Amino acid sequence: MSKIVVIGSCSIDFTTYAPRLPLPGETLIGTKFTTSYGGKGANQCVAAAKLGGETSMICRLGDDQWGLKYKENLVNHGIDVKYANITPNITTGIAQISVAESGENQIVIVPGANNYLITEDVENSADLIKNAEVIVSQLETPFETTLEAFKLSTGIKLLNAAPARVGIDEILKYCTILCVNEPEATLLTNIQVDVTNAVYALKKLLETGCETVIITLGPEGAVYLSKQDQQPIHVLCDEVVAVDTTGAGDAFVGALATYLVTHKDQPMHQIIGAACYVATQSVTKEGTQTSYSDKINAFNRTY
Ligand code: ATP
Repeated sequence: MSKIVVIGSCSIDFTTYAPRLPLPGETLIGTKFTTSYGGKGANQCVAAAKLGGETSMICRLGDDQWGLKYKENLVNHGIDVKYANITPNITTGIAQISVAESGENQIVIVPGANNYLITEDVENSADLIKNAEVIVSQLETPFETTLEAFKLSTGIKLLNAAPARVGIDEILKYCTILCVNEPEATLLTNIQVDVTNAVYALKKLLETGCETVIITLGPEGAVYLSKQDQQPIHVLCDEVVAVDTTGAGDAFVGALATYLVTHKDQPMHQIIGAACYVATQSVTKEGTQTSYSDKINAFNRTY
């Protein structure tokens, strides 16, 4: 039985690069094309597995060539795929991304099989969920499915409320840890969150019922507040030259899940500091899953 179970999305990112974004109806000649594995759920699971976490992925893939390839990618990272189900007559989730030289982008997402992750998938994997030390989920797959899994779990329930949306109060009372970035915290609290006022958002979010709330702050690290100690703590991260910040939040969540299992004897600020360290390392490299570290010692310092 895996100690970390991720219930979430898998998608393939098709990215084109061109001098500028096309106008409606226009065809442009681009300069580069990449295909990469993405989806917040899978990104977080891969980040956790790369750090030595024993992981399982509960997800839905399409019955196209990408579904099988994605399953192979998860297996190659040592992730248990018993509940990575191929769904007939539906495409694997995809994101079609266009990037201009200015850095501006346009994204079209087709969730495909991700929308078919149903509560029955949770019922079928109930033993796995009940026995997990940490279960992790996001908001890229149906909300009811995540809610069902959180109700079933007896371990740590870690929700990354991304992409941001309102109307998720029902699940927050089941969360052990809620992790959001600044725009997500802003949407959930109606406070324009930044490093100077994140503490007000933390307090407001803690009232929803979860035990610990974490807000990641990009280059400013992360702040968190727990019911237990009632004292907000700001964990700083290293200053680095950021090459590609895509998926940094997922690196953070994946690392957090692993360290909550492998370093459970450590205080929370050390665990969150180590997760920041891993996420910060990922922004120094291009790509998402490919930018996540596997050889890293994040606990040889004090945060
Ligand atoms: P993304 O949507 O790009 O995946 P996010 O918005 O969910 O990321 P952030 O708050 O931007 O998440 O970043 C998560 C963590 O990644 C931060 O807590 C920090 O440790 C690291 N990080 C992100 N950007 C930088 C940066 N420019 N320099 C150093 N560390 C960074």
